[in-house]
Amino acid sequence: MNVKKIYMDADALLEGHFKLSSGNHSQFYLQSAKVLEDPKNAKILAEGVTEQIKASGLEVDTICAPALGGLIAGFALATALDKRSIFAERVDKVMTIRRGFEIAKGERVMICEDIITTGGSAMEAAAAVEAMGGVVVGFAALANRGFCDRQNSDITKKPNCKLPDGVPFFALEDFTFEMYTPEECPLCKEGKSEAIKPGSRGN
Ligand code: ZN
Repeated sequence: MNVKKIYMDADALLEGHFKLSSGNHSQFYLQSAKVLEDPKNAKILAEGVTEQIKASGLEVDTICAPALGGLIAGFALATALDKRSIFAERVDKVMTIRRGFEIAKGERVMICEDIITTGGSAMEAAAAVEAMGGVVVGFAALANRGFCDRQNSDITKKPNCKLPDGVPFFALEDFTFEMYTPEECPLCKEGKSEAIKPGSRGN
């Protein structure tokens, strides 16, 4: 499966000269929700992650996704794995599991995101699961932004990765790309283009 091509074809991975919300510049921009606009992509990608999880032998009872970004990926993964699908959402900024979802003591839960950057939201969802007695046995994402190390990849963990050591993280692809301060941006130095803010039409 050519995951990069799936993202490119869906306009989820843009190439150009971008100004990120951090103020840094980059040659690439990932609009990860776009790839799931086509439900067929959600199915294909989730089945890819499922293959990895099954091959590892890890036992999972339930998939929990942090809303909003993880919802579709989490549901698609739960469908492919034939497991229960629940989600956590922020209430007054605190990631919370509500809507009548229950977690049994010792229930094996996998946290699923559409993309893992540093894993911050995933860890907040993990804390909510553990507070209800669940055990977080793994993390999953369709794509990895390159800060965290994952199964089946030799990518090195960066200091800002928040995922814990010793708990497996499954994803299909590492989308690692350089970010530059405007002063040191090679595209700015080239002088042929100006950095644009992606999604500036309101998304
Ligand atoms: Zn630039």
